[in-house]
Amino acid sequence: MTLLITGGAGFIGTNFVRYWQKHYPQERIIILDALTYAGNYQNIADLVCDNLLFIKGCITDSDLVLNVLNQYQVSKVIHFAAESHVDRSILEPDIFIKTNILGTHTLLKAVLSVMAAKNNKIHFHHISTDEVYGSLNESDPEFTELSRFEPNSPYSASKAASDHFVRAYNVTYGLPITISHCSNNYGPFQNQEKMIPLIINNILEGLPLPIYGNGQNIRDWLYVEDHCVAIDKILSKGKIGETYNIGGGTEINNLDLVHNICTLIEQIFIENSDFKKIFPKAPCSTSKKNKNLITFVTDRKGHDFRYAINGSKIKNKLGFFATYSLEDGLKNTIQWFIEQKIKEKVSKDAIEMTNATMEKI
Ligand code: NAD
Repeated sequence: MTLLITGGAGFIGTNFVRYWQKHYPQERIIILDALTYAGNYQNIADLVCDNLLFIKGCITDSDLVLNVLNQYQVSKVIHFAAESHVDRSILEPDIFIKTNILGTHTLLKAVLSVMAAKNNKIHFHHISTDEVYGSLNESDPEFTELSRFEPNSPYSASKAASDHFVRAYNVTYGLPITISHCSNNYGPFQNQEKMIPLIINNILEGLPLPIYGNGQNIRDWLYVEDHCVAIDKILSKGKIGETYNIGGGTEINNLDLVHNICTLIEQIFIENSDFKKIFPKAPCSTSKKNKNLITFVTDRKGHDFRYAINGSKIKNKLGFFATYSLEDGLKNTIQWFIEQKIKEKVSKDAIEMTNATMEKI
């Protein structure tokens, strides 16, 4: 079996590639990724081998996509590639329309034509977001697969449009598709500009912790490894043409989430006294409270108040439920970002030492 994974060098794509290679090492993976600001080849460089190929390219390039599908016997496409940052979509919506809508359509068209030419089936799984359902009030029931689409940002509008095309290709042309709508992911390899990595990094560097508005907006957080397990279940047992919501079951407002991260980092620094020397600017290195860094900033335009996922369908039909508690997922994530920062510091120190030695010579 050969999987084509678009966006495999981004946050969730990287975690999925690593998950798949670990669980199904005999299966071939082709990663197609344009390596935008959000993609990093180093995320997957250590995995590249005969069974895992990396192709740098854009999903809007129809010749390239057709070549890849024709050259390799692809049986499943898992489509992660997207512009994914809401704040960027507010500043610059055009690229969201190009990548998320036109890019998805280019893939659908190519998959359909290769299927027709080779008379085979290619399962197209589309990764979407709960943000297509819009925003909930505190007392509203959670989003189900039947909730109405009411996207509020250019990002969610572009994802909603791509979802409609994926569904339409199934109804009109019989393309075998599935779609998943997940809640906010967090975990290793997430881009530093997203909320949880930003908060961790800023605590370690003693920088302000920006929180939009009054911090009361509520999100449901899904640990990325749980998300990978859910996608695996959909690929193996999901019903063609169906949509599945995937949540972490961990609703929390932004302010409480940041408080939790502050406290967890304080605990981790007590358990590892070396960290105080390595990160002297972190408030907890000098017995101060990390939460003193919290700074409220002007709210995001059109900021959705609450997202919440009803995960009954995927639980009842496919037996998936998230296993990571928010605390365990956050601990893993914090540990991973601390390790990355230590590696960065070590290599920076080594370069500086080499430069200093060279100067002396
Ligand atoms: P990301 O921004 O970290 O990664 C996106 C990847 O896609 C990058 O590697 C980038 O280089 C690649 N890419 C962008 N444009 C491309 C193009 N034109 N051609 C080929 N590759 C391109 O995103 P992520 O957080 O890993 O999200 C992956 C998917 O999951 C997206 O479809 C996103 O909408 C969806 N999603 C994410 C979250 C979340 O919390 N991160 C939540 C719900 C849904």
